[in-house]
Amino acid sequence: MVSEILCVGTELLLGDIINTDGAFIARELAALGFSSYHQSTVGDNPTRLREAIRVALGRSDVIILTGGLGPTCDDITKVAVADEFGLTMKLDEEVLGEIKSYFEAAGREMTENNISQAMIPDGATVFHNKWGTAPGIAVCGEIGGETKHAILLPGPPSECEPMFMECAKPYLVRLSGDVIYSLSLHMRDIGESAAEAILRPIMEEYTNPTVAPYALEHETRIRITARAEDEETAKAMCREMKKTVLKSEAGKYVYCETETPFEAKNATVLTLLSELRKNGVTFAAAESCTAGMIASRIGDIPGASDVLLGGVVSYANEVKENVLGVPHEVLANYGAVSEQCAKYMAEGVRRVTGAGITVSVTGIAGPDGGSKEKPVGMVCFGVADANGTYTETKRFGEKRSRAKIRLLTAMYAMMLVIKRLRGEI
Ligand code: ATP
Ligand code: MG
Repeated sequence: MVSEILCVGTELLLGDIINTDGAFIARELAALGFSSYHQSTVGDNPTRLREAIRVALGRSDVIILTGGLGPTCDDITKVAVADEFGLTMKLDEEVLGEIKSYFEAAGREMTENNISQAMIPDGATVFHNKWGTAPGIAVCGEIGGETKHAILLPGPPSECEPMFMECAKPYLVRLSGDVIYSLSLHMRDIGESAAEAILRPIMEEYTNPTVAPYALEHETRIRITARAEDEETAKAMCREMKKTVLKSEAGKYVYCETETPFEAKNATVLTLLSELRKNGVTFAAAESCTAGMIASRIGDIPGASDVLLGGVVSYANEVKENVLGVPHEVLANYGAVSEQCAKYMAEGVRRVTGAGITVSVTGIAGPDGGSKEKPVGMVCFGVADANGTYTETKRFGEKRSRAKIRLLTAMYAMMLVIKRLRGEI
């Protein structure tokens, strides 16, 4: 089946926001085995949107539209699609009820224009939106003697991505007649191209399941995808392939596996939490250049309070000294970005919080502040537990952005704690 993505939004055309919805859906469609020959972006203009929809429906079996489902007057996608399929708009009481309760729960006033979000093309399949207000929609009909489908998803990625996975994907799988199942193996200490090089023989040998490395913002992931008549078979095929991958050289880089895309996003944090629980130890962080990011990422996971005790953002040397007890001489002789300082920071936060295991980070996130000996991207880590303190220095690269360096630092710090809990360091 041929699919096509059409992203709606003038802000996309102006370059104000990056089309991450398009990239996300494109990857998923490819994994589902749909062919895609075109992808387009169109502004919030009814005439041009209609034209784009008509062209897309003329050459593809399924079109997936993102954006323009909201209550504001520039949100026009739904009506344009309904017109193309010759459907009238109808108020959906159930959706209206959901929107009302969404506003009630948020303690916000529902405005008149929100009611338009409950207007649905007659006969459409409604995808209920647990992540926002605008429901997703799938419509199906005959156009030019052929069966065509349009799937409409909200623009905000925090709604578009989960709605694609939970609603649109099962719909698409039903269309294709097969079941697709994927699992992810998460790797550490290896980049995408090195991973691809060691996976190449497996990638070339098998076509179902497929095996492919993906670069995430902070790690490389191997995705195994199987297509079969039913889910049980597809699952079993994936698990069999997993054994092959784990036995290969790639296996030694794998630190965890996940079977749902939402787990996959937080794999490092979830693995850390499960290791902490398994070992029955509590955790705290002393953070300089990440300024709380480690604690914050862990706090994103519901129920983290059983192992996360807290942390200290020790940006200034005074805080390193006065709160964490880093000796003045250490700062004077080695500087704040040093393994010596990281050691005292990790031990200090362990003392202050009483946590079983702690991590510290102190580094140069840039863009300024680097030197020849201590370039931008250099970060020192400490991990302290009852057995002593481990330290390490890592260079994430001078050319990386501040945001990337801070993210990589936070994720690497968590990975060090995982390694320590597993007795690897
Ligand atoms: P809302 O109910 O928030 O209005 P909507 O479905 O109408 O949702 P838009 O108004 O088109 O969606 O977009 C809302 C916001 O979602 C945009 O300002 C942008 O930040 C984000 N967004 C929209 N489309 C994309 C996209 N293709 N990729 C990434 N982000 C997007
Ligand atoms: Mg909108």
